[in-house]
Amino acid sequence: MHEVLRGIGVSPGAVAGPVARLAPPPPDPPAGATVEDPGAEAARAGAALAGVAEFLRARGAAAGGDAEEVLEAQAMMAEDPELHEQVADLVADGRTAARAVHEGLISYAEVLRGMGGYLGERVADIEDIRCRAVALLTGARMPGVPLLRRPSILVARDLAPADTATLDRDQVLGFVTELGGPTSHTAILAKQLGIPAVVACPDVAGLVEGASVVVDGSAGEITVDPPESVLAGIAARAASRAAMPEPSGPGRTADGTPVALLVNVGTVADARAAADVPSEGVGLFRTEVLYLGRATAPPVKDQIEAYRAVFEAFAGRKVVIRTLDAGADKPLPFVGHAHEANPALGVRGLRVARRQPELLTDQLMAIAEAASACSAEVWVMAPMVSTPAEAAEFAGQARAFGLSTVGAMVEVPAAALRATQLLERCDFVSIGTNDLAQYAFAADRTESALADLLDIWQPALLDLVAAVADGGRRTGRPVGVCGEAAGDPLLALVLVGLGLTSLSMAPACLPPVRHALSTHTLDECRGMAKAAREADDAVSARESVRRLASPDLLALI
Ligand code: PEP
Ligand code: MG
Repeated sequence: MHEVLRGIGVSPGAVAGPVARLAPPPPDPPAGATVEDPGAEAARAGAALAGVAEFLRARGAAAGGDAEEVLEAQAMMAEDPELHEQVADLVADGRTAARAVHEGLISYAEVLRGMGGYLGERVADIEDIRCRAVALLTGARMPGVPLLRRPSILVARDLAPADTATLDRDQVLGFVTELGGPTSHTAILAKQLGIPAVVACPDVAGLVEGASVVVDGSAGEITVDPPESVLAGIAARAASRAAMPEPSGPGRTADGTPVALLVNVGTVADARAAADVPSEGVGLFRTEVLYLGRATAPPVKDQIEAYRAVFEAFAGRKVVIRTLDAGADKPLPFVGHAHEANPALGVRGLRVARRQPELLTDQLMAIAEAASACSAEVWVMAPMVSTPAEAAEFAGQARAFGLSTVGAMVEVPAAALRATQLLERCDFVSIGTNDLAQYAFAADRTESALADLLDIWQPALLDLVAAVADGGRRTGRPVGVCGEAAGDPLLALVLVGLGLTSLSMAPACLPPVRHALSTHTLDECRGMAKAAREADDAVSARESVRRLASPDLLALI
């Protein structure tokens, strides 16, 4: 008998496969076990730590890029001679190898925690080494993402950026997590990879390794032991997708209204891969992704190199580059925002320049220098702009560096309500619906218990988007969306109906969005926008728009 579990679909598409579970941390090794041969026990402890270092290096080498650097730093921690000495002392004191590694790493983590700042943030890495070494010594399953030997559906309580940095993309068919929300890291990553994902699905806790499931990232459903009819449904959807016409030319509605279709990227590798997807350019280059895990601010010379590589990948096209959006869900060790009571409401995004103005000026200098040598049309924008005065100040600074097209992200309701005034002071705005939802609903975007409030179909969120589009109409300036909302083909129609002029999304989302636009007229989009805003809640907003969409579109999403 099959069973359907419900969560929130965050990356569209449906796929069938066996479950591969992330193993939980191993149980704490018991204290007080007797040790017969302390010498051999100490050697086992040392070998386990060395084994973890070797494992981390192997994964790093397989992943390459930034992940390799991050994992090398972690491997070096597992090899720290002081740690090895402390563990050996604990064994000499009568602990088993597993218990000594456990206690040694817990006290190492405590020391780092006490130091705060960058070192304090490495506590999670130490905890990861502890779990892996204890698992090696006790025969428990290695925690974290398993090495997949066949294409599988990854099921986890949650996925941390470190878990996902080294994923084998060929073997992961889909993601399901118990926690997470529509704009969580898992959701963004799954879209970036173009694989179906469902989050906030607590019932998957009971799924066993190898169970056969279907993940429907559009409907937010997991079918356990799927019957033939469900499998046939997925095959039909895959066939409809495959039959979508080859994309050509710029994005437009069925009656020819242009809507620029752009991609979101975070790294040079992302940009190179995305450059092959037909698009009009990059609508959001999340520069902070380049620097996650770095201890110090990147030198201007390194920044120029990375930005230039992205601009060159999109030579002749537009690239909207966002200045560092550090803080809250994207902490950077060199950005001083430690110990804030409410980091999401704190000194993050553009606000960082109040305390560390050189981070912004160095970055603007690097962007201007990289742009001067490339044929990409470079636009620059700031995250977390709250007032027209902030937009004006940022625009003044960016222009002083010779950057001619300067914009602001609208992620704070105050900025949405004052979009006209913002647009009078800069050249364009781009709506970050992930944060705009977080701040409009006072709901932490990483809190799975509030995921329903963060649903991108919430009519109040659409009202705020409409206010920004209104500002665009009044000033005649471009207004885009670069949050996750833009990648939902149905919602994309609503956004165009509200008056947006560009949509930027994970590259894998682009073909269905392009197809959705090409099969609906602007008037139809306006009708959908009206229906969505008239709905009482997110679920009925989506339902009423589905009723207005073409059967051809519904067959493939
Ligand atoms: C957003 O907030 O919608 C956005 C695009 O920025 P990020 O997800 O990087 O915060
Ligand atoms: Mg944001």
